[in-house]
Amino acid sequence: MTQTVTNWAGNITFTTKELHSPHSLDALSSLVAGSAKVRVLGSGHSFNEIAEPGPDGVLLSLAALPAEVDVDTAARTVRVGGGVRYAELARRVHGHGLALPNMASLPHISVAGSVATGTHGSGVGNGPLASPVREVEIITADGSTVVVGRGDERFGGAVTSLGALGVVTALTLDLEPAFEVEQHVFTELPLTGLDFETVAAAAYSVSLFTDWREPGFRQVWLKRRVDQPLGQFPWAAPATEKLHPVPGMPAENCTEQFGVPGPWHERLPHFRAEFTPSSGSELQSEYLLPRRHAVDALQAVDAVRETVAPVLQTCEVRTVAADEQWLSPAYGRDTVALHFTWIEDTAAVLPAVRRLEAALDAFDTRPHWGKVFTVPAAVLRERYPRLADFRALARELDPERKFANAFVQAVLAD
Ligand SMILES: Cc1cc2nc3c(=O)[nH]c(=O)nc-3n(C[C@H](O)[C@H](O)[C@H](O)COP(=O)(O)OP(=O)(O)OC[C@H]3O[C@@H](n4cnc5c(N)ncnc54)[C@H](O)[C@@H]3O)c2cc1C
Repeated sequence: MTQTVTNWAGNITFTTKELHSPHSLDALSSLVAGSAKVRVLGSGHSFNEIAEPGPDGVLLSLAALPAEVDVDTAARTVRVGGGVRYAELARRVHGHGLALPNMASLPHISVAGSVATGTHGSGVGNGPLASPVREVEIITADGSTVVVGRGDERFGGAVTSLGALGVVTALTLDLEPAFEVEQHVFTELPLTGLDFETVAAAAYSVSLFTDWREPGFRQVWLKRRVDQPLGQFPWAAPATEKLHPVPGMPAENCTEQFGVPGPWHERLPHFRAEFTPSSGSELQSEYLLPRRHAVDALQAVDAVRETVAPVLQTCEVRTVAADEQWLSPAYGRDTVALHFTWIEDTAAVLPAVRRLEAALDAFDTRPHWGKVFTVPAAVLRERYPRLADFRALARELDPERKFANAFVQAVLAD
């Protein structure tokens, strides 16, 4: 059967003629063992060719496998299948009175695909979504399964792996007791005089939004855990109506605001599971850099805002705590993440992306692996100090490079 397979945004059409969706792990492992080139498509929310299998490659989906979510309440862990999305995982975990520490802006994305690219939410104390992962199960090139847990010296390469090691069939994550969160939205935070460290630490998770048409931020979203103190936020005015981060989009698509307490999984994402997230017609880029450079980097963006603003829907500024995954954009450094939701027009957006990348280059910037970027692979390779260790792990688990597409080959090249 011939089908056209695209990513969520529709800007990438995969060269493959078929999306293979095995119904059992046995069928999956035979397919992997019998194929020369393999890539997995998660929920397809990346904006570049990271999942592209190449013209002769096999593109796999795990969506037809049983959607395993096994919660161990005594150990406070959950084992989740490789095709499961956060919306389903969070609902099941919450049903046991437990929680994940953080979520991305949307719950629609698959867990395996998210942790593979270093996906993150916000919070000075919150690492990327890969941080609670304690074990990963991978079907490797010959169809056999390898299990890598914390404590294994290979673990630093095994979770944020860009899909380059094999097919992740399950992940085990640490959980904590369920908690409630209130979401407070403020408007008009000036860039001039911004005390970024204080603002970013004003709640469990903080996001600043701007369209860069003027300097400064149009919105500030504070997500406060109700078990943590409610601080003052004197730098901006409380919003007088519910807001969507993309100007003109309906606020009903967004999680509850105005400080109404609710379960963690219905407040930590910005967008509700039952609605289209973000604007739905867009491209995205994101650049992660050391948090100590936050104000300088924001000023650098401000200096090019006349190029950026005409093709921008919204920009979000978040923080991510340092983690230990070798290919994580937050590896080894407390991070500020500058995210850009562009209009859905690659030709119009790319010049702005290049200008922005030039403006941010001095800050040792690492682009989000799942979004649009033009930073050359040779530059990226210099920005990941443990890349050689990842290369060695990829050689060990995938000696024939079955899982290395052009995107991965460029990153791993010696
Ligand atoms: C509207 C929107 C909002 C977003 N918000 C955020 C955000 O808040 N924070 C953030 O950091 N990012 C965000 N992203 C980016 C998104 O989180 C990443 O692109 C993430 O990788 C998406 O997961 P996915 O399952 O769709 O991955 P895919 O795009 O399907 O795949 C990504 C990579 O993972 C690999 N992969 C997937 N599943 C497996 C598996 N089982 N085994 C092996 N490899 C696998 C693929 O081969 C590919 O290399 C957003 C994207 C969209 C569209």
